[in-house]
Amino acid sequence: MAIDRFGRAIHYIRISVTDHCNLRCVYCMPEKMTFRPTEEMMSFDEIVTLTRLLTSLGFDKIRLTGGEPTVHPQIVEIVGAIAGMPGVNSVSLTTNGVLLNKLAEPLAKAGLQRVNISLDTLNPLEYRRITRRGRFEQVWAGILAAESAGLKPVKLNAVIVRNFNESSLVDLSRLTYEHPWQVRFIEMMPFGGATALQLDQVVKANEMRQVIQAALGPLELVNQGELDGEAQIYRLPGSQGQLGFIASVSVPFCASCSRARLTADGHLRLCLLRDKEVDLLTPLRAGASPAQLRQLILDGIWQKPWGHGLADGEYATDRIMSEIGG
Ligand code: SAM
Ligand code: SF4
Repeated sequence: MAIDRFGRAIHYIRISVTDHCNLRCVYCMPEKMTFRPTEEMMSFDEIVTLTRLLTSLGFDKIRLTGGEPTVHPQIVEIVGAIAGMPGVNSVSLTTNGVLLNKLAEPLAKAGLQRVNISLDTLNPLEYRRITRRGRFEQVWAGILAAESAGLKPVKLNAVIVRNFNESSLVDLSRLTYEHPWQVRFIEMMPFGGATALQLDQVVKANEMRQVIQAALGPLELVNQGELDGEAQIYRLPGSQGQLGFIASVSVPFCASCSRARLTADGHLRLCLLRDKEVDLLTPLRAGASPAQLRQLILDGIWQKPWGHGLADGEYATDRIMSEIGG
């Protein structure tokens, strides 16, 4: 088991299988985005090798992400390879949902258990404005396809940005009356330089709840406030689904962090919002043995930073969200 110097057991890995994406969300990347060359990315075999090493060290919860993981030409094979590894308890995927209509069924058959689908608005024009190139209808079809393929419970992720999509708080919450989905509202993390969005466009979770309650009435806290992953869960009385609030900026959950990330270029990233990383791909390509790579991972995890400094205005500067995977 990989343990850090603060005694946290780190067993959840988010693997970015590509930095490429078919959308250009305003809070995630610039409109004219330059992606990295393929040879700098982990190959299929390298993803499998590094994941197997991680699972041998007790990483049992795996989330595949990107960029957009479904644009990877071998995403179904990657899921299949990871789902079959000894010690893996959960394999999930974070996706913008654009290609899910086609892929939900094969992914589920390959062993995928759950999906988180990013959807920031139910308004097709607003969707276009936020993603700069997506079509709302495709994502909606993807959500329904995920549900019928058994990728449940469906979780929808919505980043709320002031002056962009605040009305989504009420619109998306209403979905839970009819659907057993978990709609999760995420505080935007302003990323240094990558986007034009600013700290004053962050809508904090408290304010989000106030807006929802003003329109739809009191929310009920679920599980006495115990976090589900990083989300605090509520429900609207009488609804089938749940509402989650991810307050990364205003209420960091670093004390209970159990995760690390593997970037698409094969770096073990120890905290989403700190620049500290361990390059695993260069030694792997140079012929390092499994034992040497395991030691690099364990030493890196030991050095995992305590937490991020967003509340103090400290940002990671070296990578943007699409390169780390969220
Ligand atoms: N492309 C996939 C997607 O959009 O779901 C996976 C990668 S994306 C980087 C993972 C998550 O990060 C998405 O839910 C996205 O909304 C979120 N995200 C991206 N930029 C963000 C930001 N600046 N602040 C908060 N969340 C962000
Ligand atoms: Fe692509 Fe996801 Fe970033 Fe949107 S949030 S640009 S879908 S990686």
